[in-house]
Amino acid sequence: MAATLARTESPSATRTAISINDVSVRFGEGRTELTALSGVSLDIPEGGFVTMLGPSGCGKSTLLRAIADLVQISDGNIAVLGRTPREAREARDFAFVFQDATLLPWRNTLDNVRLPIEVGKHAGADYEDPLKLLKMVGLEGRENALPHELSGGMRQRVAIARALVTRPRILLMDEPFGALDEITRDNLNQELLRIWQETGTTIVFVTHSIPEAAFLGQHVLMLKAHPGRVKEFMKVELPAERTLTMRDTVDFIKVTAHLRAMLEECL
Ligand code: ADP
Ligand code: MG
Repeated sequence: MAATLARTESPSATRTAISINDVSVRFGEGRTELTALSGVSLDIPEGGFVTMLGPSGCGKSTLLRAIADLVQISDGNIAVLGRTPREAREARDFAFVFQDATLLPWRNTLDNVRLPIEVGKHAGADYEDPLKLLKMVGLEGRENALPHELSGGMRQRVAIARALVTRPRILLMDEPFGALDEITRDNLNQELLRIWQETGTTIVFVTHSIPEAAFLGQHVLMLKAHPGRVKEFMKVELPAERTLTMRDTVDFIKVTAHLRAMLEECL
């Protein structure tokens, strides 16, 4: 507690939301052992938006899952808001959004968003109003719709609202818009940035798309494969405020060209 207070009172430095120190993850053992991540270190600032890029199989999901206490790390350490991933999970410091919205098909929109409240009721828990969240993700008026009555983009909006209901300080997103068409993805990218600004949530977002990584990220983490290591952790040199038309500017194209060149070196 004293350490936390000292950090809070530190006047200058940006606080670190997630600190990853020399982390390795190995799966299996003996002849089938596979090193998914090796010696990964980086600090993710509180309130930051980090996008993660890298070739398929380089360990992006594994790193996200290690932060979320869904994968056991073999070496090193991870601190989430100064706690272990296990403690952070129990304190509900973070929420996870997957590519598939995984809504309960027999529950309507509102009841899907309410689910974490019903599942995790504990003394003193502080929840966001599900109706307010549905409005924030643009689903006002669709409270009673069932998942099969919604488009893929709308289902992902429900998943985002559900993730925010416990007021997590960190949102971990694994290719959440990977299965959507381009226009829907553009819309959701803009909405996610607005939600990020409104809530101040720290976001770590895995994607396959170079433009998406550049558009959303204040920083981009590039991983390379076999074993997964940090290729580059770079600040995106664009104004913090992003617009879709910005993607046609020379500065944006410079960022994506750099990322493409880095990614080619990772293959
Ligand atoms: P990415 O998300 O970048 O595509 P992953 O993190 O899913 O990559 O996987 C990294 C490597 O670890 C891959 O070789 C994958 O097959 C392996 N892997 C991931 N999860 C497991 C697991 N639970 N058991 C064994 N191997 C795994
Ligand atoms: Mg993955």
